[in-house]
Amino acid sequence: MASYREQGIVLRTYKLGETDRILHLLTQGRGRVRAVAKGVRRPGSRFGGRLEPYSHVDVQLHEGRSLDVISQAELLASHAAVRSDFVRSACAATMAELTDVVAQDGERDNALFLLLRAGLQALDAEPDDPGVFVDAFLLRVASAAGFHAWVEACAVCRRPGPHAFLSVKAGGTLCGDCAPPGTRAVDPATVRLLALLAAPGEWVALPQGAGADDDARAVAASYVRAFVEHHLDRRLRSYDHIARD
Ligand SMILES: [Zn+2]
Repeated sequence: MASYREQGIVLRTYKLGETDRILHLLTQGRGRVRAVAKGVRRPGSRFGGRLEPYSHVDVQLHEGRSLDVISQAELLASHAAVRSDFVRSACAATMAELTDVVAQDGERDNALFLLLRAGLQALDAEPDDPGVFVDAFLLRVASAAGFHAWVEACAVCRRPGPHAFLSVKAGGTLCGDCAPPGTRAVDPATVRLLALLAAPGEWVALPQGAGADDDARAVAASYVRAFVEHHLDRRLRSYDHIARD
């Protein structure tokens, strides 16, 4: 059996048999990898504690017929504090859930890997409003998957914004000429926040977004969720557990 070494982030785990666990990993070089960690649920397992959800690990794997087999794992970042906090853990779960949906088995996607790593690092830092990082992560991953939320311009005619009309289906903000009658208009603070969330890079700018008023935060959050669920045709169950003040 061929063996290989990869850096990966654990997206989800589930039990297999009496003592094993199946893991979905987003690796840096091979996209999503589904692998089995044998004996990790036995007390005193050598690497069970290193393969928890959201752990960033360096792993040695053997190629298998359906699932690869993990033979070694070294922790690079455990994100244990994120796992032990209810809200931040729900945030990480939402990031991992979407990643698991868009990642392709065996196909390198370094941009996705870097986004997930940055998102988890942001949660590690105990932000005041962790939800803002989830929303940024969701919009950026959707954009990388081909569904960009147009907030800086009209989603239909691309006339530079900001525009007040907001549509999930049309893919972002709409100018007065393109918005069909009945399109919801939102306030400028919401549009500014959405633009901040959707812009590539600049995770450091995001805490400013947390300074947006509660109404803007709530409207932006529900828009982000609806946008991603509509365009990726997937319900994000973990998002239900992210508490919003
Ligand atoms: Zn337009």
